[in-house]
Amino acid sequence: MDYEAFFLSGLQSLRAEGRYRVFADLERHAGAFPKASRHSPNGIHDVTVWCSNDYLGMGQHPAVLAAMHEAIDSYGAGAGGTRNISGNCHTHVLLERELADLHGKEAALLFTSGFVSNWAGLGTLAARLPNCVVFSDAGNHASMIDGIRQSRCIKRVFAHNNPRDLDRQLSEVAPDVPKLVAFESVYSMDGDIAPIDEICAVAEAHGAMTYLDEVHAVGLYGRRGGGVSEATGQAHRLTVIEGTLGKAYGVVGGYIAASRALCDYVRSFASGFIFTTALPPAVAAGAMASIRHLKESEVERLRQRDRVARVRQRLDAAGLPHLDNPSHIIPVMVGDATLCKQISDRLLDDFDIYVQPINYPTVPRGTERLRITPSPFHSNEDIEHLVSALSEIWADIGLERVAA
Ligand SMILES: *Cc1c(COP(=O)(O)O)cnc(C)c1O
Repeated sequence: MDYEAFFLSGLQSLRAEGRYRVFADLERHAGAFPKASRHSPNGIHDVTVWCSNDYLGMGQHPAVLAAMHEAIDSYGAGAGGTRNISGNCHTHVLLERELADLHGKEAALLFTSGFVSNWAGLGTLAARLPNCVVFSDAGNHASMIDGIRQSRCIKRVFAHNNPRDLDRQLSEVAPDVPKLVAFESVYSMDGDIAPIDEICAVAEAHGAMTYLDEVHAVGLYGRRGGGVSEATGQAHRLTVIEGTLGKAYGVVGGYIAASRALCDYVRSFASGFIFTTALPPAVAAGAMASIRHLKESEVERLRQRDRVARVRQRLDAAGLPHLDNPSHIIPVMVGDATLCKQISDRLLDDFDIYVQPINYPTVPRGTERLRITPSPFHSNEDIEHLVSALSEIWADIGLERVAA
């Protein structure tokens, strides 16, 4: 077989569909977020980033950076191996306590990313609970889908954010069969939010465990940043709350928070935990500083909400179509992969604005979009520049507007 030709033709078909992904070559600058330098064949230009998942700019927060510097100087660079072989770094132990406290759970368990926490956490539970059936929301993230798949359990997909369909499907499985309901709080592409209380009520009625991915909510919702489950007073009802340290907390890593026995069980059986080097202590220290800060401080959350509201209002005034939702995520709908990429390219090349196009398979075909995530650090001028750039491109391409 001509392997190279195989790879090239696969890439060519992505290009033909307008789905080939080009990553902007960006240099972030601590202290200047959301500005970054973009390296391109034409040189280096300042750009404004409008699609970062460092939602609150915690990736440049002085307390986070200081904690990381101090940890490197104290403990060195890496963790020195897997926790099974090399033991715990004390920082990991402290961070797990911090996370358990954040969600009001007995324990927490760290992973190297949110993806791994879902893949390994959910996968291990689904694989080891005898004959477990997993009920998975139709909108679930790839990390949960992959975890469920590798567990080889029986999977049933319920209609997105639909407790009635979940109830119907749970009723079809015998009462004594172990059941696990997996869903998210804030769905990152539409920015809609799950009815956690109703889903928990249905799960409880059928004796099912619940597993909630709060990746796009931790740090952002709830008085202490404990996510939508905290904001709605539902955290105690969830069997497992999963989160990331890489988005609003601005560092990297993932975790589950649950009962002591459940976390200990996953720690003892999950290959995605056991056989991989632990997070560097500096990463854990940075994440801990970020979580502690956002447990106390509302400033970042309030400022972000203000920015989000302002972007929505300016988009409305310009008649630019965006999905209405109760979260911090603003999807500007385009509905065509090639156009979406074209708009993103023009924003970058002509206006020094970086918004990555979101195409299939991340979202269904025909719902291609620009996903805008305003941060506390986007100024009024940044917002005017973004909206006027979009408006100009909308006019040039002749895209439809909506009534204000
Ligand atoms: C990003 C994401 C993850 C993975 O988290 P990482 O820490 O980036 O690996 C998990 N779930 C959802 C819904 C996500 O969007």
